[in-house]
Amino acid sequence: MGSVKKCIFVTGGVVSSLGKGIAAASLGCLLESRGLRVTLQKLDPYLNIDPGTMSPFQHGEVFVTDDGAETDLDLGHYERFTHARLTQANNVTSGRIYERILAKERRGDYLGKTVQVIPHVTNEIKDAVRKIATDDLDVIIVEIGGTVGDIESLPFLEAIRQMRHELGRSNCVFVHVTLVPWIAAAGELKTKPTQHSVKELRAIGIQPDILLCRTETDLPQELREKIALFCDVDKDAVIAARDVESVYRVPMNLAQQGVDDIILRYFGMKDLPKRDLTAWEEMLDRMKHPEDEVTIGVIGKYVDYEDSYKSLKEALLHGGLAHKIQVHLRWVEAESITRETAHQQLGELDGILVPGGFGTRGIEGMIEAIRYARLEKVPYFGICLGMQTMVIEYGRNVCGLKDAHSTEFDPGTPHRLFFKLRELKGVEDLGGTMRLGSWLCNLKPDTLAAQAYGSLEVHERHRHRYEFNRDYEKEITSKGMVVSGETPDGMYVEICELPDHPWFLGCQFHPEFKSKPLEPQPLFASFVGAAYRHHQARARAEEAAEAEQFLRVRIS
Ligand code: GLN
Repeated sequence: MGSVKKCIFVTGGVVSSLGKGIAAASLGCLLESRGLRVTLQKLDPYLNIDPGTMSPFQHGEVFVTDDGAETDLDLGHYERFTHARLTQANNVTSGRIYERILAKERRGDYLGKTVQVIPHVTNEIKDAVRKIATDDLDVIIVEIGGTVGDIESLPFLEAIRQMRHELGRSNCVFVHVTLVPWIAAAGELKTKPTQHSVKELRAIGIQPDILLCRTETDLPQELREKIALFCDVDKDAVIAARDVESVYRVPMNLAQQGVDDIILRYFGMKDLPKRDLTAWEEMLDRMKHPEDEVTIGVIGKYVDYEDSYKSLKEALLHGGLAHKIQVHLRWVEAESITRETAHQQLGELDGILVPGGFGTRGIEGMIEAIRYARLEKVPYFGICLGMQTMVIEYGRNVCGLKDAHSTEFDPGTPHRLFFKLRELKGVEDLGGTMRLGSWLCNLKPDTLAAQAYGSLEVHERHRHRYEFNRDYEKEITSKGMVVSGETPDGMYVEICELPDHPWFLGCQFHPEFKSKPLEPQPLFASFVGAAYRHHQARARAEEAAEAEQFLRVRIS
């Protein structure tokens, strides 16, 4: 632990879903472009200890860090936009704060005092921020979840108010992300919600320094001046955060308005290198000018609830960037797929992917989709549950293991291809009781996995409760499937693949968590490449069929 040098606190006003996480991540990206070292932290006011037990349908994806923390999906944005490597300490909820306080109270650490929100809860929050400070960091960016005005976020706002007092004004910058809505009936942008939200913040003692105003359109100069006047913010610090076609454009948009310069001015930081966003700009250029496109079918329990598969969607996009190819996603509800309908539902896809998941819903449909991909030689990528269903399909349909399953879905299956991790024997609680975080995986030489990674040792992040039963390994591999990745101690199978197929691979880990726009994850890049070859082959086959049809018509 070092001392906190400079802090940026990001709050949100008016409504939720304004993209505070992207805003915080973009500020991190901009400051890194000035040669500063940053980290980011999310303080979440809800009472769950962590989002691990929350439904991705409600809360969005659970993002897993190297150290195995189950965190808010905003940490995914932070890692994708910056070089920060985050840990458990970078996502703290009210539940976690109270858990610590109550443990101290039971131990008698408070020496008979009454334990109160101020100072005990606020002190614990400030400690959580200080905990992530290290000597090599220049700036800590702290995002406060929720919206100003929520009851549950009050202790967090009070804590950051105190921090500004303790660290000094020149070491703290408050950024408030707010909304300037377009009222169609009046044909006008309205500043009143922003004024109210800032008023609310000031009532708790926080004067924002920078306003990031989310708008659908441009923010005219007179409106910026009006907001600056009413909210007591410098004119150039009223920033228009317009909707953009890709979240990766946000840093450029903020850069154009000099947000990094404004922050550095408040921090009194001079003589920093000029902004260098060359690599980022090149990436945006690749994204804007794709040379071709592919369509990947994602066979999930949930159908594209925007945030449920956030990192997966980003990783597929990054995989496309590696080849200058635009990746379109087609979401197919697993439950709707049957053997009879598979061709009709999946026939136009260039690649098929079954993502991670829990629970029995849709499993049989996933198995049918995988069977289709195997037989029709469509590139297939199985992630975690998608690897398990891939092996189950193979066990049932190729190795003749009737009713083979995972005990997660059929506890009485005659062929337990997957069972509960041996290390979890006797553990029934659901919170934080999985195999989590980054583990070393050894790859088998001359396999698709080894070729994709270009290395025989990789670290990937996990989040699962069931493991492959190695008693069945001989049976599975005797028919051709290859175990191409395993833990160094030989305990867990991590990757399986089929050699006599253009691209058919499943991994027990979640490679999507480590993919970045500037560093596409190797398996995703390889998979999208294979999908593109399939796309081209399909196009050639269609052309040939058309030519044949044409000839036949002429001859007759
Ligand atoms: N439900 C499976 C397990 O717990 C897969 C988990 C996942 O896909 N993340 O092992």
